[in-house]
Amino acid sequence: MKATIVTVGDEILIGQIVDTNSSFIAKSLDKIGIGVYEMLSITDDKQHILSTLSSLQNTVDVVIVTGGLGPTKDDITKKTFCDYFDDTLVVDEKVLAHVTQLIEGFFKRPITQINKDQALVPSRCEVLFNQVGTAPGMWMEKENTVFISLPGVPFEMKHLIENAVIPKLITKFERPYIVHKTILTYGVGESLLAERIEHWEDNLPEFIKLAYLPSPGRVRLRLSARGADENSLHEGIREQIEKLQLIISDCIVGFDDGETIEVVLGKLLSEKKMTIATAESCTGGKIASVITSVPGSSSYFKGSVVSYATEVKETVLGVPSAVIEKHSVVSAPVAEAMALQAQKIFNADYAIATTGNAGPDKGESEAEIGTVFIAVATPKGVFSEEFNFGQPREKVIDRAVIKGLEIIYKEITKNL
Ligand code: ATP
Ligand code: MG
Repeated sequence: MKATIVTVGDEILIGQIVDTNSSFIAKSLDKIGIGVYEMLSITDDKQHILSTLSSLQNTVDVVIVTGGLGPTKDDITKKTFCDYFDDTLVVDEKVLAHVTQLIEGFFKRPITQINKDQALVPSRCEVLFNQVGTAPGMWMEKENTVFISLPGVPFEMKHLIENAVIPKLITKFERPYIVHKTILTYGVGESLLAERIEHWEDNLPEFIKLAYLPSPGRVRLRLSARGADENSLHEGIREQIEKLQLIISDCIVGFDDGETIEVVLGKLLSEKKMTIATAESCTGGKIASVITSVPGSSSYFKGSVVSYATEVKETVLGVPSAVIEKHSVVSAPVAEAMALQAQKIFNADYAIATTGNAGPDKGESEAEIGTVFIAVATPKGVFSEEFNFGQPREKVIDRAVIKGLEIIYKEITKNL
């Protein structure tokens, strides 16, 4: 089973709006075992829409089109659909009653011809009734392909996908099961990880596919299994994960998109009834922000000092000026002093501190651009590590944030 998603609208092609409809539809189709073969974004042009529809005819099972269903002149999808199916527009009484009720009953104004035209649909289409808007969705079939047209407005599209399209696709088509499992790894880059798991990857069964999804400081490994028996897919994935754990247990943190390092760290601290604080220079409070993005973090997060200016490291945080003068502001002793001071000020069990040079220009320190010192204060003492995260600035900051969380997570689990 294959589907193509087509988004219609000049505003997408000039970059004015971002096409979020396609990703929502793709996720919804994936859940019911329909693979998306292609996503297309095309102009509000009749010939372009017609040629797209005809090129997809009999090449995929399902085509889902969004956009261009409104009442204005630039919205031409409906008329074009009608032409493509060699059909005529007729009034759908149920839609007309709904539009009238919405305009006259809810918006309290007289209904216009443009509003009434929203109730026009191709005579042979099956109407997908739109409870939350005026433009109905349409379902039409031609030879081996189902063509579905939906409004572009995201919440209307979502409503119709969930309440009309998916239920109808489920009854119409027999589909395979698809099971995904995501493994979150931290601290090892994509290529190194690929080398470590090469043998395992080469021996994956035919029905399981692996994808690498890297982002700064972490790589998500997504396993996708496809087949007719759901239980054996789950079993197959479970077996492979067991094997994988033997190879890379040191960098696996979680098993689900929701089990990020901040979530797992939060669980750990809650269980141990321990607390954490941060003192941040080059990360500007982002470590604190990531920690507090987790609901319930108030039970283990004490607070943060964003000591960006050197002066603030001395006055607010209490780092001795002699240490800064002797070692420079981007140095291991300063990072360690920051962590110890934060641990003390916030009366926390652990503290993370960062000081670095994110670029693009050198600051007060002579340290190379990209250099970051991360220090961790623990109940037993303090230690730090030096990194160079390269460039650009955003990458240095993001990697420092993730690395800080990773170091503290490993430190706590080491002592379990
Ligand atoms: P309307 O009845 O509001 O005119 P429509 O079906 O004609 O709906 P469009 O005119 O194509 O849809 O788009 C309406 C609005 O929906 C756009 O201005 C845009 O904000 C949003 N939209 C359209 N297509 C997409 C898309 N692919 N992804 C995200 N948003 C979209
Ligand atoms: Mg429109």
